[in-house]
Amino acid sequence: MVEQNGHTPANEKWDVVVIGSGMGGLSVAAALSRTGHRVLVLEQYETLGGLTHSFSRNGFSWDVGIHYLSNVAPGEPERKVLDWLCDTPIELVSMGAIYDVLHIGDTEPLLLSRPFEAQALDLKERFPEEGEAIDAWFDAIHKGKEAAISVLQSRAMPQPVGAFMAWWKNSAIKQWCGRTTAEVAADITDNPELTAVFFAQWGDHGGRPSKASFAVHALVSFSYLECGAWYPVGGSSEIANHILPVIRQAGGEARAGVKVGSVLVDDGLVVGVRTVDGDDIDADVVVSSIGARETVDQLLPEDLGEDDWIDEIRSFRSGISHFSVYLGFEGDIEAAGATKANHWIYPEGEIDAVWNEAPSGSPPGMFVSFASLKDPNHVPGPQQHHSGEIMVWTDWSTVARWADVPRAERGEEYVKFKKEVEAGCISRACHAALDGNDHGPYGGCVLWPRRNA
Ligand SMILES: Cc1cc2nc3c(=O)[nH]c(=O)nc-3n(C[C@H](O)[C@H](O)[C@H](O)COP(=O)(O)OP(=O)(O)OC[C@H]3O[C@@H](n4cnc5c(N)ncnc54)[C@H](O)[C@@H]3O)c2cc1C
Repeated sequence: MVEQNGHTPANEKWDVVVIGSGMGGLSVAAALSRTGHRVLVLEQYETLGGLTHSFSRNGFSWDVGIHYLSNVAPGEPERKVLDWLCDTPIELVSMGAIYDVLHIGDTEPLLLSRPFEAQALDLKERFPEEGEAIDAWFDAIHKGKEAAISVLQSRAMPQPVGAFMAWWKNSAIKQWCGRTTAEVAADITDNPELTAVFFAQWGDHGGRPSKASFAVHALVSFSYLECGAWYPVGGSSEIANHILPVIRQAGGEARAGVKVGSVLVDDGLVVGVRTVDGDDIDADVVVSSIGARETVDQLLPEDLGEDDWIDEIRSFRSGISHFSVYLGFEGDIEAAGATKANHWIYPEGEIDAVWNEAPSGSPPGMFVSFASLKDPNHVPGPQQHHSGEIMVWTDWSTVARWADVPRAERGEEYVKFKKEVEAGCISRACHAALDGNDHGPYGGCVLWPRRNA
């Protein structure tokens, strides 16, 4: 959803200013609007929605950061919260029993289904000798998820109660949160192929198996196995389309194209924000939803001084980075191998790796998804238009040299880099998920139904 660029009237005063219009910012803004506050949301980008926004080119459209959602089956507490944040409920459609397909090395693709019992059977059929290890893995997923929830609950409670809960659950928290996914798997099996399967969906939370807490892996895996995988009918921009009216109905606004430069502090109290264009906006409360590190590094005034919480936030390690290649297809993509289920592709069987040397070599792993197959409202038209995306994990260092250079000034070297990354992704992903087709109308693939030819 695009709104006209933010114009800031003089002497504005809001109950709350929310910085950033992603799922986090919109959720807090809608909740505050529902409880009687006038909220102004400020978004630096030209489109509202953050990682839930969608974009279109030449008749194709793509979501930038949503491929499937969990915990949103009818009746789930999270679904009730989502419905409450929206003017009318977002329509969500199930992706069905099979939601992910693994392509590891040269082995046959492994279809992962839900719920737990079904996926245990999928794995036991592939690894008949490993029944005990597979049961132990699913048991660990249950326990890891419980431990993760204990941590979240203990942090959400008043300090003394939270501290008591953390003490009470200490041994489970240590066992499941204090070990990495790789450590937990190593205690369960020494079969490298099965371990690769256990690890394969780590991109869902972005923590490499050798580095991330197992509890996070368990929490995310559990949610899809238990509650299924869902997709918003009409695409992910429907999320903002349904939340923004709630903010407006309470007298609030959301402005795109307004970058906040700093938080204004007076006598130790936050009193508003200053945009990069120099406009001041007063507010009783300011909520930053652009990330903790970004808030501390980019928005806090320099004279705020040092504090433990600032140092703690600065000590967080950065997450992994990714490349996305957006694909437009013409043709019968299902006949060529595309599915509603997402594809996780590891051509060499190496799972715990990112494409550090991009654009040299080729990506060790990738995630391929076909949004138009998930969306019952998608109209392919006579040319059978479909959209897809390849995501590849990398390290920030591969692109850091261009970070502070405006897009239009990055030059030929940057264009060449992008083309090489694109080629590296397309050739490998299309081979695994699309029957080898790799040329196309929109930076992507023309799909010839080769299986039927
Ligand atoms: C490629 C990718 C795929 C993903 N796939 C899935 C998935 O399939 N399922 C799932 O559940 N989750 C998925 N996620 C995770 C999910 O999209 C995010 O966790 C979630 O959308 C983050 O919301 P947010 O509000 O915290 O941040 P964001 O959506 O990043 O919002 C932050 C906003 O703040 C704005 N901003 C930053 N600085 C300023 C400033 N100074 N002034 C004004 N505005 C500013 C940014 O432009 C941005 O719009 C994916 C994430 C990525 C990156």
